[in-house]
Parts: sequence; C-alpha cells; structure tokens
Amino acid sequence: MVDIVLLGAPGAGKGTQAELLAQWLPLPRVSSGDLFRAAIAAGTALGLRAKEYIDRGELVPDEVTIGMVAERLAQPDCAQGVILDGFPRTAGQAEALAEVLARMGRKVDIVPYVCVSPETLLRRLAGRWTCEQCGTVYHEAYSPEKAKGLCDACGGKLYQRPDDTPETQKRRIEVYFAQTAPLIQYFKDRGILVELDGEQDIATVQRVLRQAIRALGLTGPC
Ligand code: ADP
Ligand code: AMP
Repeated sequence: MVDIVLLGAPGAGKGTQAELLAQWLPLPRVSSGDLFRAAIAAGTALGLRAKEYIDRGELVPDEVTIGMVAERLAQPDCAQGVILDGFPRTAGQAEALAEVLARMGRKVDIVPYVCVSPETLLRRLAGRWTCEQCGTVYHEAYSPEKAKGLCDACGGKLYQRPDDTPETQKRRIEVYFAQTAPLIQYFKDRGILVELDGEQDIATVQRVLRQAIRALGLTGPC
C-alpha cells in the first residue's frame, strides 16, 4: 500500500509520470483536472461551476475540489493506495487530504516534486496534445504520436486543451507559484518530499521516480 502525491507546476510532466507509474505499481491515477474535465463533459452542476475557474486559469475553490476528490478516494479501486496528480494544490487541500487518508488509517507516503523551469513549462504546455478518448498526452516535439493527430493507444483524435491558450498558461503558472508552491515546504517539513529533475527526458524522470518509490520499501515490483 502506498499513497503518492505528484507535485509540480502545470506542464511539469505530472500526468505523464503518473500514467507510467500507474502501470508499474499498479495503482489508480487520480487527477483532479481529469475529474473536472469529466464533470464538464457530463454537464453536471459541479462541472459548470468548475469551468468558470478553469477557463480563467484559476483554482477551483477548495469546497468544491476537496469533496470531489474525497468521493473518488472512497471508491474501492483506491483501497490499496493512489497516485494523486494535481491534488492537493492549496494548504487547505493538503490538510483535508491528510484527514481523509487518516480516517482510512493511511497517510501520504511520498511526494515526488517534478521541478522544471518556467521556460520549459511554457514550451511543454504550448506543444501538448491530448487524446479526446483515452486522455493519453503527447507533445509535438518531445513525445509525438506516430500517426498525425491520432492517439497511438486507441486511435482517438488529439486536441489541445482549451485552457492551454498562452494567456491561461501564464495565469496558471502564476497561480501555481502563489498558491501551490508553498506546499513544497509543507511536505518537506513532513520529511516526504523527493525532488526530481523534471528537465530530463520522460524515461529518465520515470526511472528516478521508481527508484525513490522502491526505496520506501512499501510496495512495487522490482
Ligand atoms: P502536467 O500534468 O504536469 O500538467 P503533462 O504530463 O501534461 O504535465 O506534460 C506537459 C507536456 O510536456 C506534455 O505535452 C508532455 O508530453 C510533455 N512532457 C512531459 N514530461 C516531459 C519531459 N520530461 N520531457 C519532455 N516533454 C515532457
Ligand atoms: P490540470 O489538469 O491539473 O492542469 O488542471 C486543470 C485545471 O483544473 C486547473 O488549472 C484548475 O483550474 C483546475 N484544478 C485541477 N486540480 C485542482 C485543484 N486541486 N484545486 C483547484 N483547482 C484545480
């Protein structure tokens, strides 16, 4: 059993690393951004509320986000642990997560922090393409799809996220530094932060990440 929180700015590569990790462990990847996008696609009240914030590059308020993620964590597939991607993003969310896990007799075991320069973040966000069917993420220069515009995994069409416009990207990065970056110290103080050089290629970051998780001695194939 292991509970993992991937920390890092938008575009750092959290989703990419979380997907690879989820195949290895295997544990579910819970992405708050994906949960919001599913709610928007389904046209739920939560989705409508979240869209206002997402379109502006702001954080969705804690009272909406915490309940949504807590509900997901209560599902049976999360009973053996989880890989959280994009949550928590505020101090309030970090405290709420600790409470939710404590009620299940668990705690966050490790927080890999994917560290990348602001210039790299912008380059990665600008070239990001996502499969509309299965959510697999590509980059037009760094990890391109084989057949132009089509997902390697499922053949679905690739799209650029509507919140990947230049203005929204800039705002999301500002919001990250103001509201989420303080969590680096928060998790460091708890002795569970592991800093990863996210400037390296995808496979190298994944290799170092797996080493860090193996070193916990909690779970995972060798
Ligand atoms: P996040 O989930 O942190 O917002 P993503 O995983 O969606 O970031 O990655 C953002 C973009 O950068 C994607 O297009 C992805 O293919 C690309 N990417 C991710 N990690 C790397 C890396 N280590 N090197 C080069 N490109 C990367
Ligand atoms: P992501 O897919 O992680 O890039 O998230 C996309 C957008 O969803 C963010 O820019 C926020 O508007 C919203 N969002 C995702 N996760 C959270 C969170 N933990 N707290 C608040 N807003 C979030």
